[in-house]
Amino acid sequence: MPYEILLATNNAKKLTELRRIVAENPAARELGITVRSLADFPAYAEPAETQTTFEGNALIKARAGVAATGLATMADDSGLAVDILNGMPGVRSARWSGPNATDESNNALLLKQLHDVPDDARTAQFVSAVALVLPDGREFVRHGVMPGRLLTELRGDNGFGYDPMFVADATLARGEQLSNGELGAEQKDAISHRGIAVRAVVDVLVKSIGRREEGNEE
Ligand code: IMP
Repeated sequence: MPYEILLATNNAKKLTELRRIVAENPAARELGITVRSLADFPAYAEPAETQTTFEGNALIKARAGVAATGLATMADDSGLAVDILNGMPGVRSARWSGPNATDESNNALLLKQLHDVPDDARTAQFVSAVALVLPDGREFVRHGVMPGRLLTELRGDNGFGYDPMFVADATLARGEQLSNGELGAEQKDAISHRGIAVRAVVDVLVKSIGRREEGNEE
């Protein structure tokens, strides 16, 4: 029996990313997990992200998805924590340059704020919390982190958000200087904060569906 889940996001790139990660998981493929998006359902009022933590905001979004659709729902909340800015932009990452912020305006502002920060102090990490809420009310959250450094210029058109100004430590460890904006999608999934958290949540989902199916056979 196929098992449908909802990814509560309007971000097409996150949807493609989750579908790729589900497709890579043999147990998820075997269970026929398919990922639906908000576009597949009548619009509902999306909750305000009022929490001060990634985990809190991810749970708010996932709970709203279950309430509106009845499907098991995953939602992520993520952002960039810059060490010299005491972890900001953090949960404010998407709106860092104001209410009408775009990726371009956010990157421009952050570059300006860090213009006099030397290379060895340009450390930062992407952080993600991915929540899974099941129709029976069970809730799970898994976290992922991608440490790295911020460049002094933008490089590459891949990815989104702050990707063009960020080089991951995992990339540097391979002897490469490529920014996230210069990585292929699968290369980024393998090391990214969200990739790590989403893979862990897909494992949780697989186990919980697997147990349910075993229960039905008894
Ligand atoms: P969210 O969609 O509310 O989780 O907002 C996350 C914001 O954090 C995005 O708008 C980006 O600015 C930033 N962000 C999160 N993940 C990434 C990433 O993988 N690359 C670049 N920027 C990211």
